Amino acid sequence: MKRRLSRAARRALRRLLRDRFLEEEAACLAYAYDASGLIRVPEAVALPENTEEVSRILTLSYEEEFPVTPRGAGTATTGAPLAPEGGLVLCLSRMNRILEINPEDLVAVVEPGVVNARLKEALARRGLFYPPDPASFRFSTIGGNVATCAGGPRGLKYGVTRDYVLGLEAVLPGGEVLSLGVRTLKGVVGYDLTRLLVGSEGTLAVFTRITLKVLPLPPSRGTLAAGFTDEESALSAMQEVLSRGVLPAAAEFMDRVTLSATGFPEREVHGLLLFEFDGPEAAVKEDLERTRHLLAGKTRFLKEARGAEAEGLWEIRRGISPALRKLGARRFADDVVLPRSRLSFFLKEVRRLSAETGLTVACFGHAGDGNLHVNILFEPEAEPRARTLREKILSLVLELSGTLSGEHGVGLTKKAYLPAEVPPAGLSLMRELKRLFDPKGLLNPEKVL
Ligand SMILES: Cc1cc2nc3c(=O)[nH]c(=O)nc-3n(C[C@H](O)[C@H](O)[C@H](O)COP(=O)(O)OP(=O)(O)OC[C@H]3O[C@@H](n4cnc5c(N)ncnc54)[C@H](O)[C@@H]3O)c2cc1C
Repeated sequence: MKRRLSRAARRALRRLLRDRFLEEEAACLAYAYDASGLIRVPEAVALPENTEEVSRILTLSYEEEFPVTPRGAGTATTGAPLAPEGGLVLCLSRMNRILEINPEDLVAVVEPGVVNARLKEALARRGLFYPPDPASFRFSTIGGNVATCAGGPRGLKYGVTRDYVLGLEAVLPGGEVLSLGVRTLKGVVGYDLTRLLVGSEGTLAVFTRITLKVLPLPPSRGTLAAGFTDEESALSAMQEVLSRGVLPAAAEFMDRVTLSATGFPEREVHGLLLFEFDGPEAAVKEDLERTRHLLAGKTRFLKEARGAEAEGLWEIRRGISPALRKLGARRFADDVVLPRSRLSFFLKEVRRLSAETGLTVACFGHAGDGNLHVNILFEPEAEPRARTLREKILSLVLELSGTLSGEHGVGLTKKAYLPAEVPPAGLSLMRELKRLFDPKGLLNPEKVL
């Protein structure tokens, strides 16, 4: 049953936010989408500017019983920031101040609407570094990154968002403001509620302030692109490099479908690896040299790049998702993770299943940590076939001891598959947790569970 915004709620929100409360349908449409392709128009949008406003909105949500959906930049691929029940979208993009950068403590404190790239730039000016780098880092927000536990190419060496969140100011459903976690590099006092909230997809609390661990900026970086005549050789060459004690910051893979969609100029190349190394210049040079040596005789093409040229190669990688649009009006986009040793077998099986159904499947991504983006591309009339193929691929992932999502999360588009991975006792504990945080079920309803 839909719980609508009452007249009293609208009046109170108008009083509180004035022109930052949007009710016109045209204005609401701008908050009706994400990168999943789904569209769900909210009844209204709130643009708070501070914690107190967020708290008052969540208090009102409990008094007047209307749903609230938190939103950052709306780049999720799962429908997670959409409002399927209507109600209010709570967009945090105006809470975008970098509150503190502390080089002595290696800590940064930000509001949730700070865009990842802006934080990276501000830190770099101080010789510091925030590693999590989703391909959307130029436009996604730190709040959204924390809520999805975003990863990225550098996850291989540096881990994911979870590994950098020290503390959170969080507003609970009902409006209570909590300060969780620490601003020290360690802390084990009580249950780790901060970690519980990271990756909770806006279903348990709204983050209004985030304390992050940061690192010294690596002084040097180098990229190595290695092209192979087939996908399998690319994946086994990557295994060879990583099992010989070389630890790149990133090891990304692009399959033949992806390469053709991005218009990669080397036509004979059907599998590409992009490595990034960082650290002191001498270490970067040594890693590049060792990797070249390990790849010798196996590649169709090998290119070392620095600075703007390297950035150009990484831009091709970041542009994959939009480039794939030309291969199908619709897609099922999953970001599965497999034990690295099973990647090659997995890809072969995906090719077999794709040939059986006649559908195009693109596989690319953070192969270094076993995280592959699997995109089934299709025209609307092929949806039933695409759905069956997706189910087969997801079952295969679980058979191979993998997980259904490494970084994009569950949102709306994957919740039907949750019971395939999480056992019933785990699911009921998750439902209990949701009830404990949000007894009325008003914060980002319909998501995850
Ligand atoms: C081209 C492209 C490439 C991408 N590449 C990657 C990638 O490499 N790695 C990766 O991990 N993801 C990637 N993504 C997915 C997406 O960018 C990430 O999930 C990102 O973290 C979402 O941030 P956002 O600000 O857009 O959040 P939104 O999409 O607006 O919201 C995402 C979730 O966070 C919740 N949320 C937002 N702000 C808050 C808050 N302050 N408090 C509580 N909950 C909140 C929302 O309710 C929702 O559940 C990519 C997306 C695109 C379009």
